[in-house]
Amino acid sequence: MSVPGAIKKLDETLVNRIAAGEVIQRPANALKELLENSLDAKATNIQITLKHGGLKILQIQDNGSGIRKEDLGIVCERFTTSKLVQFEDLNSISTFGFRGEALASISHVAHLAIVTKTANEKCAYRALYEDGKLKEPPKACAGNQGTQITVEDLFYNVATRRKSLKNPSEEHNRAVEVVSRYAIHNPKVGFILKKHGESLAEIRTNCNSTHVENIKTIYGNNISRELLEIDSVDDGLRFKLHGFISNVNYSTKKQIFLLFINNRLVDSSGLRKALDSVYSLYLPKGSHPFIYLSLSLDPRCVDVNVHPTKHEVHFLHEDSIIEKVRRTVDCKLNGANSSRVFQTQIKVPVANDLQKSVTKGSVTNPSCMVRTDSNSQKLEKYFTAASSSAPSSHTLLRNKTHLKSNRRNIQLSSVLSLRKEIEEDEHLGLREIFGSMTFVGNVDKSKSLIQHEMNLYICNTKKLAEEMFYQIMLYEFGNFGELKFVNPLPLQQLCKIALDSPGLNLSEEDSNKEEYSLLVSDLLKSKSAMLEDYFSMKIDQDGNLSAIPLLLDNYVPDFGGVPSYILQLARAVNWGNEKQCFQMFCRETAKFYSTVSSSSMEGEDVANEDWPWVIEHVLYSTLRSCFVPPKHFAEDNTVLQIASLPDLYKVFERC
Ligand code: ADP
Ligand code: MG
Repeated sequence: MSVPGAIKKLDETLVNRIAAGEVIQRPANALKELLENSLDAKATNIQITLKHGGLKILQIQDNGSGIRKEDLGIVCERFTTSKLVQFEDLNSISTFGFRGEALASISHVAHLAIVTKTANEKCAYRALYEDGKLKEPPKACAGNQGTQITVEDLFYNVATRRKSLKNPSEEHNRAVEVVSRYAIHNPKVGFILKKHGESLAEIRTNCNSTHVENIKTIYGNNISRELLEIDSVDDGLRFKLHGFISNVNYSTKKQIFLLFINNRLVDSSGLRKALDSVYSLYLPKGSHPFIYLSLSLDPRCVDVNVHPTKHEVHFLHEDSIIEKVRRTVDCKLNGANSSRVFQTQIKVPVANDLQKSVTKGSVTNPSCMVRTDSNSQKLEKYFTAASSSAPSSHTLLRNKTHLKSNRRNIQLSSVLSLRKEIEEDEHLGLREIFGSMTFVGNVDKSKSLIQHEMNLYICNTKKLAEEMFYQIMLYEFGNFGELKFVNPLPLQQLCKIALDSPGLNLSEEDSNKEEYSLLVSDLLKSKSAMLEDYFSMKIDQDGNLSAIPLLLDNYVPDFGGVPSYILQLARAVNWGNEKQCFQMFCRETAKFYSTVSSSSMEGEDVANEDWPWVIEHVLYSTLRSCFVPPKHFAEDNTVLQIASLPDLYKVFERC
């Protein structure tokens, strides 16, 4: 029979050592705490020296406020801090440390020395600690303003931990990672990291540098060249976001994810996953982005009272905030996509052929132009001669001229007020559905199925696309790339084609088609400067259309719609009133773009039969990320719920 062992109270030093081992698990943890202390002390230069990955020596020297001589006696006792006075302060604390545990913990598992000097003191003081206590009274010594903390022989008294950290180079790398991240987040502070005894620094950033400069210094040019800055503020969720993310041209095998919440380096697997899934739409399989995000949350919403080693954080409204960040990143990537330069060719007829056929009087008889098959709705259809001529002349160049860096910030009150109308009409339920929908499939070119949670919806793709392109027109106003026709299309003839289409009811004044077409062409020509400046629509001296705006990367509208689009611009747009003009111009353009092209684009993967791909990966992917659904879409069958899984289960149960 076994006799129970007597229960003994553990001696205090041992208790403290066990607790300390929980807080400090490896050199990188200790370093993170010490770095945060230096930053709290407003240091502008921080130098770190490591020997054996910090296991033998971990030293950090800063030029911050220093520690007052009279406080040196207690700084290493547990729960001593200059940063927290009452429990209520926990709610509004914004400095890094608040629990007064770091120095105490280190002193229980290592030899700790502090040399420090405040501005008021004539000399520095040196103090040595063991198990939370001063070993002897602090001694005056020479030293600069600031604090130097030296941690030697980490875990000298915790054999198990010492044995588990056998690889100094791995510990070194982890420490380098921590310093790199704080350096990127704190560009105003200069960081230096060296191996003990070496004169060359492994990390060196200047004080008064920038985030991007430091990313370049630390991660290299390849990343820093491909960065997009993101910013977002949400008053409702009370958060601010700032950061730099790699664009779709960059990818790396392992995700680089730097997350700071209220200036503290943390991790959030939820956010990490959400962002990786956004990038998976853009990057090749198995490759990942670089992401640096700094989130400021209301301190009352962050669960700060987690264990010091707990890297993973949780915060209030976590799902909504992650969703908002995800959308911000997605929008950025979507928009920035079009800043790549494209030189893609597409099959459309050319003006010369067009002219030839017209002058020869060989225009196809209107009776042959009736479109019975939507797939044949291409401009070629109208011109038999043109559609069979040499492929090299069937060209359209897509070209983005505005790069993001010189993006214009449009402040026209008409545009701002049209944007506001969109935002005020947002249907939040639909926003939620689009934001996290799964694309199920296309019923046909104008209808698709999506799933959200347990419900299946059928969507009118054309109506959605039209509204989405209208929004793109307003939000990208003045910043469009171009879809360029190598051989410009004469407006007058486009207009005549439109007037000739069967089913168009012509009023009196329209009846002289020739004359009317000339009027339309002249009207648009007279607006060409404005059209080019705001909408990248180019009309040359002779009244030829040579470019239209590029609204979405990988998306080309159906050019069969060009003639009626041109006619509509003249008929439907009120050119006399700024706001109405922009509104109708954008609406008509959106209507034209809402029919996806079935033409093939050479040089890109969008072939004839690729409209389903375009609908799924271009249209619906943009709807997911950057679309503000208007309220009426919930009522006019644009989005219609057709099945709900729980209800289906009920049906099956009855069977
Ligand atoms: P906390 O940071 O949570 O307050 P620490 O144990 O990390 O707890 O530090 C205890 C105290 O020591 C701090 O509150 C601060 O007053 C002082 N201190 C520590 N490191 C520094 C430093 N590098 N410069 C100035 N003061 C420091
Ligand atoms: Mg601290």
